Amino acid sequence: MCPIGPIVPAPGLCLNCGGILTVDSAATCLACGMSRAQTLEFFRIDQDWSTEAAIEVARQAFAPGLCRLGLGILNYVLQKDPSIEEAWVIKYQVYQMLKMDTSALQEFETAAGRIVERGNWA
Ligand SMILES: [Zn+2]
Repeated sequence: MCPIGPIVPAPGLCLNCGGILTVDSAATCLACGMSRAQTLEFFRIDQDWSTEAAIEVARQAFAPGLCRLGLGILNYVLQKDPSIEEAWVIKYQVYQMLKMDTSALQEFETAAGRIVERGNWA
């Protein structure tokens, strides 16, 4: 398992490692070997969750320190809708808590700000 996962979780990127994944759910990530379906199962993601429900599940994962699980769920939320500012903010807080390198954190903040401003991945 990748310790961090995709920093900026654009659609088409593997939820586990950020490698490039095709939309075909049976295809496996060239980097880590997991399929889209396997990553959803791995992060225990229910595709029927509302955005609010998914964010709540992520928050509950962070509380006892299951950061990787929480980040995976937030990345799933953001892949579907990158305009969800709350998900970016929580990711930022987790990266701060994990002591991500300051320049990487600034890069993340800048990228997230641009994406939220645009409201989509286009
Ligand atoms: Zn992967």
